[in-house]
Formats: sequence, C-alpha cells, structure tokens
Amino acid sequence: MAEFDYDLFVIGAGSGGVRASRVAAAHGAKVAVAEEHRVGGTCVIRGCVPKKMLVYGSHFAEDLHDAARFGWQLGETSFDWKVLRDNVNADVDRLEGLYTNTLDNNKVEMFRERATISGPNEVTLASGRTVTAKFILVATGAWPVIPKVPGAEHGITSNEVFYLDELPKRVVIAGAGYIANEFAGIFHALGSKVTVVNRSDQILRGYDEQIRDRLFQISTQKGIEFIFNASFEKIEKQDDGSFCVHFKDHEKCDTDLILFAIGRSPKIEGLGLEKVGVELNEKGAIIVDEDNRSTVPSIYAVGDVTDRVQLTPVAIREGQAFADTVFGNKPHRVDYDMIPSAVFSNPPMAGVGLTERQAREQYGSPKIFTSDFRPMRNVLAGKAERSLYKLVVHPESDVVLGIHMISPDAPEILQAAAIAVKAGLTKAQFDQTVALHPSMSEELVLMK
Ligand code: NDP
Repeated sequence: MAEFDYDLFVIGAGSGGVRASRVAAAHGAKVAVAEEHRVGGTCVIRGCVPKKMLVYGSHFAEDLHDAARFGWQLGETSFDWKVLRDNVNADVDRLEGLYTNTLDNNKVEMFRERATISGPNEVTLASGRTVTAKFILVATGAWPVIPKVPGAEHGITSNEVFYLDELPKRVVIAGAGYIANEFAGIFHALGSKVTVVNRSDQILRGYDEQIRDRLFQISTQKGIEFIFNASFEKIEKQDDGSFCVHFKDHEKCDTDLILFAIGRSPKIEGLGLEKVGVELNEKGAIIVDEDNRSTVPSIYAVGDVTDRVQLTPVAIREGQAFADTVFGNKPHRVDYDMIPSAVFSNPPMAGVGLTERQAREQYGSPKIFTSDFRPMRNVLAGKAERSLYKLVVHPESDVVLGIHMISPDAPEILQAAAIAVKAGLTKAQFDQTVALHPSMSEELVLMK
C-alpha cells in the first residue's frame, strides 16, 4: 500500500495548477486536482482570453469608422453585444474543454469541488471525502477586491463583466490599473459613456510615466472621463434600475454599470492554511521560497496566490519549475528579471525592464531615447493619435535597460524586442540592425 493516496494534490485548475498537474503527471506522479469553478482559471475563463477577444471586437468600431478614408463605403453598421458576448463565451467553453482533455490525457484525476487543507498531507473535499498526498500545491489564484462601501453589492467585477445582458449606456469603472484601462477602452469603443474613478491622481502606477501620460491624453481626447483623488461614499440603486454613485469629495454621478477594478487579492479564504501553519504575508499571500515551497515543507504554492508577479505566463513557469524540480529530477527556478507586460488599452501599452524613473534611481542619468510619431495608418485615417516609443539605456555600458511603448500592436512588437533586452543588447546593437520599412517597429532601431 502506498503511503499516500496521491503524490500530488493540486488545489486550483488555473494556469499554474494545470501546468503543474500535467507536468508532474508526465514525470510519473499520481496527481489529482480540485477545482470549484471552471477548468482554466481566471486567464482562460474570465480574464486575459475573453478580454482580448472583446478588445478585438471593440477595435472594429474604429476600423469601420476609418474605412471610408481607405475607400470603403459600408453603409450603415450596427453592433450587437450579445453576438460578441456569446461567441466569446463559446470559445472560452472550447478552451475549457481543451484544458480538461489535457488533464484527462495525462491521467490527472479531477475533483470538481472545493478542497480544503486539513493537514500537512491531507485535503478534505466539499463532499466530505478526505484524501492524502505527499505534496499539496495551492494554485488558487487571486480574486477581485470589492470596496467596503454601502451599496457595493450593486457593482460587478471582471468576474461578471463577460456575461452582461446588455451593453451599458454609461459605465463607472473604479480603479485605474490594468483592468480599468482595458475595459475603459472596450466599453468606450463599443459606445458606452465611460467614467474612470481612481483614489490617486494618476493611472497605471508603476508604468513609465511618459507612456501612461500618453494613454491618459489619448483616452481623454476620445471622450473617456477621469475622476481622480476620489473615494466612493455609497452606491444607491434608483427606481429606473440605474445607480447613483456618491463620492466623498466629488459630484455624484449616475450610471448603468459599476465595474470594480481596484486590484486582486490572493484567494486564500477557507483553505485551512493557518490551521496547518502555512504563513501568509501582510497582503494575505502565501509566503514561498525560490522553489515555491511554503513554510510547511509538504505544501507548495504557485501563481497569484503568492502575489509575486500577477501574470499568467509567470504562474505557468512557476508551475513548470515546481513540477520539474519536485517530480522530474530537473531542478530549476523562475527567472523574474525582465518580464514583459502589456495593457490592452486602446491603443495598447507594453513594456519591459526599467522605467525611466527606476533607471534614474539606480543609475543617476540614464540615456533616454524616444520616438514620438503618427503611425502611417493613422495619418491616412486622418487621426491625430500619436505613438510613443522609449528606450532606457545604461549611461556607461550602453545596454538597453528598458523599452516602453504605446502604439497599435505594441504588445506584439514588445514581445520580440524583449528578447533583445533580456539578452542584454546595447543601443549600438539595436542601431546596427537595419530597419524593416515601412513598419512602426523600425522606430526601435532608428532612435537618435
Ligand atoms: P491594478 O493593481 O492594476 O490597479 C488597481 C487600481 O485600483 C489602481 O489604480 C489603484 O490605485 C486602485 N486601488 C487599489 N486599491 C484600492 C482600494 N482599496 N480602493 C480604491 N482603489 C484602489 O489592479 P487591476 O484590478 O486592474 O488588475 C489586477 C491585476 O491583474 C494586475 O495587477 C495585473 O497583474 C493583472 N492583470 C494583468 C493584465 C495584463 O497583463 N494585461 C490585465 C488585467 C489584469 P493607485 O495605484 O493609483 O493608488
């Protein structure tokens, strides 16, 4: 008889949990995973994937508008939210099926129910069944934060936004980070009146200031409204079904939808972590070492529940490293240096490495190169909207320390450019590369 029912019990079938389960099983481990919601987790079911599809859907608004400048006479066009919503959700269903098949094909046993840790090597399922495992991996992700204000129950989060019955005429978005700016772009393009409300005086804290200022400027010009230094006092439902949002220091505002996008916190409630001695940090995230091991040696954690870098590709790498290290006899660790990221706003932003401010703090006077240009497509479309690329370069070694950009296709361009930054290439090496003309990305090798 084996000492434990499983070699590995994973709680959470999101990006990190699925990768860890599948790879551990491929290494020969007997694996089970419990998921109380849907297989695929935040990214696939209610995050990156459906969001990106809505971004695609919303882009048609501008494309159709611009089409006449390119010679196309389209007649009257109209938008049907339900068609986009249902097609997006059908594709999410398809992806969930693929994730489930991957686990089945790797002989990972699936429990579609909530699991709670009841001992260092024991998990209790919602059905009451108790199972044992040599190792437990917590990959429960994060959950949207809801502000503690009267009437907060009238708002929704990114969990619900993909299922709206109707496209709202007016939307108030709380927060000015990733999710807020992405949905501001989507809703605005689809025709909603958008108001972004933030507690501080800025959007996208931590991003390169010049780049995010450009997004703010473009968003404002498009007609997205921003209210800064504002805190919610209460939200009231009105007789016609709309809502009245009261602020402490600002005029109240009527809206049809309130979307909370004020951050996501580690999903640890009711997991039984404290009971078995798994330590949490001040944000409630599971404290892990470089090998993803918690303060209880048999319990590991990967992804957003550890609140290291809240990004899907990072959770996937952590899951892979965990499985290879613990079950594959191939120990390795995730390299957190130079992780590229993007905001799928309209236009999108993307960045890798040090911002100008960070480089000034570390190196005093970094060399800064910028290209501020109007993409050819915008020129022909008669749009004033300008793109901005920035290279942050080490003052002595000439190594490119960071690239930050806002432009159409910035995430697509940045992913490739991030390879050069990760490789530690110099500005001179960028300059040696012949421009690919005509393209937007050629600006990266033409900055003087
Ligand atoms: P962010 O952390 O990006 O932004 C949170 C925003 O809400 C900030 O503007 C912040 O203000 C404000 N805020 C924070 N706490 C409070 C509070 N208690 N009350 C009122 N306002 C508050 O969070 P998101 O929810 O947008 O996204 C969560 C995470 O998901 C991101 O950090 C990111 O890692 C991930 N994500 C990544 C995406 C991508 O890669 N494209 C897309 C979507 C999400 P301020 O900072 O100005 O003080």
